Amino acid sequence: MADQTRPWNFAPGPAAIPEAVLREAAAEMLDWHGCGVGVMEMSHRGKEFMQIAAEAQADLRELLAVPAHFRVLFMQGGGLGENAIVPMNLSRGGQVDFVQTGGWSRKSTAEARRYADVAIAATNAGTTDSAIPDPSTWTLRPGASYVHLCSNETVDGIEFQALPDLKALGCDAPLVVDCSSHILSRTIDWSRVGLAFAGAQKNVGPAGLTMVIVREDLLGHALPITPSVFDYQVVADNDSMFNTPPTWAIYIAGLTFKWIKAQGGVAAMEARAIEKSTMLYAALDASDLYVNRVATGSRSRMNVPFWLRDESLGDAFLAGARERGLLALKGHKSVGGMRASLYNAMPVDGVKALVAYLDEFAARHG
Ligand SMILES: *Cc1c(COP(=O)(O)O)cnc(C)c1O
Repeated sequence: MADQTRPWNFAPGPAAIPEAVLREAAAEMLDWHGCGVGVMEMSHRGKEFMQIAAEAQADLRELLAVPAHFRVLFMQGGGLGENAIVPMNLSRGGQVDFVQTGGWSRKSTAEARRYADVAIAATNAGTTDSAIPDPSTWTLRPGASYVHLCSNETVDGIEFQALPDLKALGCDAPLVVDCSSHILSRTIDWSRVGLAFAGAQKNVGPAGLTMVIVREDLLGHALPITPSVFDYQVVADNDSMFNTPPTWAIYIAGLTFKWIKAQGGVAAMEARAIEKSTMLYAALDASDLYVNRVATGSRSRMNVPFWLRDESLGDAFLAGARERGLLALKGHKSVGGMRASLYNAMPVDGVKALVAYLDEFAARHG
């Protein structure tokens, strides 16, 4: 992208937004389509915003090929909010099984314990390669209300390359998927999913919007303690306008959806994600200076954590990266090291620049 004027932003979230989207939002900031006010300043019940929200929802449905018997909800509370909102709505106070593959699914498990009888169906804890446990080995309880997994572990860099077919495993429970950090980078097989949720700030837009895509028959079973704003049935009945929705975040998400469509849709995003991540892992694997131990089949295309074998080089690595316009490569505080997040808004050229720097740094210090 020759017209890239800004540094390459590898932030894990909130994260880069396509420059074209930012420019469009900037141009419409003071006056949206001639209505005299900007999107942040207009009523969520006016015809202008209703159109923005309806288009955003229709575009998201189209991009992810969401079947008619699923509802798309625009909520607030983020991924962590959903860690409580999902069990309040779906657990019926009974059993819930969790597949633990990293930090985010562990957090989800801990939160659900406040509302449900929680068990760990499988875990990769204690393994050296963090491989996702094969679904045939999972312990799924016959009475579970749902099974939860995180399809892309943002901190650990672990991604399901396919969602499990629970029915084929003899399990009738719906699958709940936290896809916060890779939504719209690959297709979703809805025949295997009961509910998918994602915060917007990784791959879609600003923080504040949480997307929930839920099978219709799962609505209407919320625990009595569930706040009305978090009751999926209430949100669905009011077309995500029970309370004031995060209007600005929905607007930017809508621009991003249109941008993805113009790029060729989710298939194009997936092809790019494969190209970018393959290039980066190849560079990391080619040098003894860098380490990523995640099993090849479980490596994330979106979040690539890596460590310098000599950790004392970390500060020099990050300073050199900044000088070359490569930003936000410091790893999550819980695991240390480095992390490059390659969301949809990261152009291939940005990853090429990172790979050139990795090679240069390795040649100097290897
Ligand atoms: C970022 C993230 C979350 C948390 O989102 P918040 O908006 O901070 O609540 C949850 N799950 C995953 C997989 C994430 O990457």
